[in-house]
Amino acid sequence: MSNSNQNNSKGVSVVSEEVCQQIMGRTEAFTAVESVFAAMAKNTAYNFPVIREAIGHADALYGFKSGFDRDGMVLGLKSGGYWPGNIQKDLTNHQSTVILFDPDTGKLKSLVGGNYLTAVRTAASSAVSIAHLARKDAKVLGMVGAGHQSTFQLRAAVEQRNFEKVVCWNFHPEQIPNLAAVAEELGLPFESVTREELGAQADVIITITSAFEALIDADWIKPGTHIACMGTDTKGKQEVDAKLLTKATVFTDELAQSISIGEAQHAVAQGIIKESEITPIGDVINGAKPGRSSDTEITLFDGTGVGLQDLAVASVAAELAEAKGQATYFNL
Ligand code: NAD
Repeated sequence: MSNSNQNNSKGVSVVSEEVCQQIMGRTEAFTAVESVFAAMAKNTAYNFPVIREAIGHADALYGFKSGFDRDGMVLGLKSGGYWPGNIQKDLTNHQSTVILFDPDTGKLKSLVGGNYLTAVRTAASSAVSIAHLARKDAKVLGMVGAGHQSTFQLRAAVEQRNFEKVVCWNFHPEQIPNLAAVAEELGLPFESVTREELGAQADVIITITSAFEALIDADWIKPGTHIACMGTDTKGKQEVDAKLLTKATVFTDELAQSISIGEAQHAVAQGIIKESEITPIGDVINGAKPGRSSDTEITLFDGTGVGLQDLAVASVAAELAEAKGQATYFNL
């Protein structure tokens, strides 16, 4: 706190994308995300309603995710969205910036690049779910998806269990070598398999695709599996058979998002599960509700991605950058 007071006198800190990549480790992201999920379940941290609009220019989707974590004293917003034409400009299509405010005064505190941090906080989310819900003896990790986000999910997941192998299926097979290269770097055998084989082999599965239909059949998932569904973050998207949510014990980062834009939206809309049957993972972290109850139970984590995750990792990145002299400052 004294550090942050000192830095307040220097003005608003700016933490670039490059600095975020240098200083933000997976362990720090895991701790920040786990803590904010715990605070959300205790109602000491709140996500405010999300705004997301097609702006009618450049085919862009633009929005805000904001919230306040009273435990962590983090207030702010992530703003940005998706500009599909950016790739031709040598820019990432997803663009975001985190803006942090001093919760005591409302003064602007920090501007933090949000692109890399989004990838890291999303990976931390599935990692937190594996840490709290997967069987301790999980050996095979199944990856459904091999796009940009998948390599981050893989790196964070393998730190949670003693995985001995990675199996993968992707809609675009030409992307699979990118993920295979990361598995190789991590010293893990990697096999490209069919979806059925993936279900038969994997003890933990991460889905991280932009699919709009079920890719994984409920009957392909073996007892004892933990599945983290991470791709579905919009109305209409779907990665797994809605029936799987009736076979599994379902957990989420945030209930409101889970039933409206998350993987659970379909099962809830079909009336085959109720909102009351979904457990916020923060309750498991806090010890208020049980997690996995047996080695044969299927657990499913609906990771929808909340603004408070962005604020949590951005706040840590700002503190680290300020402490290491890697932030720059300006006054408004
Ligand atoms: P990307 O564009 O790099 O990769 C897209 C992935 O989806 C690839 O594996 C691709 O093969 C697959 N895919 C595309 N169309 C498909 C289809 N019709 N059927 C099956 N698979 C298909 O995107 P990314 O950055 O890796 O993000 C993947 C998904 O994760 C996106 O839907 C994104 O919105 C979501 N996401 C969620 C969170 C969260 O917090 N939950 C955070 C970041 C991204």
